[in-house]
Amino acid sequence: MNAPLKQHLIDPEICIRCNTCEETCPEDAITHDNNNYVVDATKCNLCMDCIQPCPTGSIDNWRIVRSPYSLDEQYSWGELPKQGELTGGDDGEAIDSEVLALLDQAHTGVGGKSVPPASAAKPAVNLYQRNHAAVATVTGNFRLTHQDSDVDVHHVILDFGEVAFSVLEGQSIGIVPPGVDEEGKPHRVRLYSIASPRHGERPNTNNLALTVKREPNGLCSNYISDLKKGDQVNVTGPFGATFLMPNDPSANIIMICTGTGSAPFRGFTEWRRRSMPSAPGRMLLFFGARRPQDLPYFGPLQNVPESLLGKRFAYSRIPSEEKVYVQDLIRQEGASLVALLCSTATHIYVCGLKGMEQGVDAALDDICRTANLRWRELRDAMRTEGRYHVETY
Ligand code: NAP
Repeated sequence: MNAPLKQHLIDPEICIRCNTCEETCPEDAITHDNNNYVVDATKCNLCMDCIQPCPTGSIDNWRIVRSPYSLDEQYSWGELPKQGELTGGDDGEAIDSEVLALLDQAHTGVGGKSVPPASAAKPAVNLYQRNHAAVATVTGNFRLTHQDSDVDVHHVILDFGEVAFSVLEGQSIGIVPPGVDEEGKPHRVRLYSIASPRHGERPNTNNLALTVKREPNGLCSNYISDLKKGDQVNVTGPFGATFLMPNDPSANIIMICTGTGSAPFRGFTEWRRRSMPSAPGRMLLFFGARRPQDLPYFGPLQNVPESLLGKRFAYSRIPSEEKVYVQDLIRQEGASLVALLCSTATHIYVCGLKGMEQGVDAALDDICRTANLRWRELRDAMRTEGRYHVETY
């Protein structure tokens, strides 16, 4: 019988198919099909380079096996097999102490592994793939940024008609751009966060909204931004099983975002407003954009009462004013944030530009230090308890 070995695997339920791991892996050990991202055990040297860049923690999974799971097995999975189901034609014997010791040594990831909030609803994931996509119809496409702004952000509504496509706030979907690339291969699926609550733009409608910024040479962002009412779109997913909203009305939710990273927080806010308007938990939004004209949902946000959502805006490019980032506002709000951080009912969500992650972390570290709290320990505990979530690109 083969000696046990540690195999690196990707959790298909949590993976949002962003391709970061495949781009990062120096050994080309990570690959994908229309269904899953997978790790080739014959190439992976456990270097860990892919662990930190993964926005969801789905990359940080390990099993002790006697024969590694093949690529075909991994492509077929809807969920990870449990540890203990030893592979390679084993007799399914109970895992022994030697194997458990090896598993204990498994790497747990930089900053720990993502966990969903304890009170979050159970999400459906990966119901539709490229070769079995859900077809949605565009029922709205509105510009979200001011007409004077050169930042062109769209709110696009996709209706699924009779197709069952159940989602939760914080999940993402894949959009399949039509056509093929210069090598004749179908274009890669692009991911977008859902910007609407679970029951649709209006209660009990079978639709969802996306927040999409037109990028100058962006194939998919231009395709989506140009969609017209009545157009049909191929959709995959939904994806993501950890960046989810707590269902507990007493949960305090601190949301920190830049630009279109605001998408999931629109979903969070609308769901709380709709399902628990008198919730005792606080919702607080730190939102960074270049100028008010460039801030998605600027107008509608003005109409959300402070009692439902505390709003703090950071503008970086107002002429003759100093640049302000979300992390500056976090420092300004230090005292009230520290009070919230002391509560086990408090959750933090960070979404947007990759670069903000470090700045936000440093700001939270600073405000905790002034109150004799240890941010790194608190953050790791919050992550383990499903109360700290980061999704940055
Ligand atoms: P953006 O307009 O480029 O930037 C928004 C603001 O963030 C600007 O004020 C910018 O300031 C500021 N900023 C730049 N670097 C920063 C840093 N290190 N720390 C804090 N603030 C910083 O934003 P965007 O293009 O909308 O980008 C949003 C990001 O969210 C993208 O990376 C996107 O992939 C991601 N995202 C999108 C979705 C979606 O569904 N569409 C979902 C999740 C995440 P400056 O004036 O200095 O540039």
